[in-house]
Amino acid sequence: MKPDKLLHPTDKGLYCPPGDFFIDPVKPVDRALITHGHADHARAGHAHVMATRETLDIMGIRYGENFAGATQEATLGKAVTINGVTVSFHPAGHVLGSAQIAVEAGGTRIVASGDYKRRADPTCAGFEVVPCDVFITEATFGLPVFIHPDDGGEIARLLDSVARFPERAHLVGAYALGKAQRVIALIRKAGYAETIFIHGAMEKLCTYYRRQGIDLGPLAPATIDKGARDQFAGKIIVGPPSAFADKWARRFPDPVACFASGWMRVRQRAKQRGVELPLILSDHSDWDELTQTIRDTGASEVWVTHGREEALVRWCELSQIRAKPLNLVGYEDEAE
Ligand SMILES: [Zn+2]
Repeated sequence: MKPDKLLHPTDKGLYCPPGDFFIDPVKPVDRALITHGHADHARAGHAHVMATRETLDIMGIRYGENFAGATQEATLGKAVTINGVTVSFHPAGHVLGSAQIAVEAGGTRIVASGDYKRRADPTCAGFEVVPCDVFITEATFGLPVFIHPDDGGEIARLLDSVARFPERAHLVGAYALGKAQRVIALIRKAGYAETIFIHGAMEKLCTYYRRQGIDLGPLAPATIDKGARDQFAGKIIVGPPSAFADKWARRFPDPVACFASGWMRVRQRAKQRGVELPLILSDHSDWDELTQTIRDTGASEVWVTHGREEALVRWCELSQIRAKPLNLVGYEDEAE
């Protein structure tokens, strides 16, 4: 089957005509297959949703139990047939529950990666290479300048700063799904055993991650008792980046503003946000991971979506791999 007969972009998202389903649709549809729980990929209001157990749980936590008319759990690695099209989910290494979706019919296999990264993450299953004819890759950091450093080194910079400024609170901005838990798990991996304080917006998801067996160590709500401002001196507080611009952040003693994001590689972005200690921690692939993964899949054709499509398309062409931008709309990078 010609690949674009099997999957092609529409205004609602990536559509499979023979299977009559969408992948990560941005508008309500009858049948949606969802790669992971970030808000731009997983939306409420579909009649039928198929996703991993964890992604279904995360959607339930974020949108309420009635987020879809009906749900179907996808078991990783297990193929199912939808209207004659074979579909299977495979780990993407992006956040807990994240999956690539392989779609196969008439001897053609397309893998839609969703968001992915290759490096080890203590909070989710590692990316698995799925050989395919067409690989649909994200390109959030699709420029050669984006090479993410080792995450252990970034966490060490944070802990050095905590040790050096015992009178100051360290506020770490991290998105509520995935990044926050990964930052906390990495801090634990580095040997920090003290209580880490979390913003209320992270509580439910942190509780869920722990229930899935991910060790986040002692956590407590970052609420300040009146007149006890100094209780946070020398402590680490994790909250959503949006909370850092408001009054909430100013209650802490002489806070060091940190932000855990792949974008912290761009000095100007850190400056604009008033970030004193930028931590380059990304849940997306860097340039080397993107190009390595394209090679690993053995795909003869690559479709590039949400991000810097042009550079990656050009790289594919120079590597004798057919490539095109997909121009899907409605995806922002919540996770970064
Ligand atoms: Zn994502």
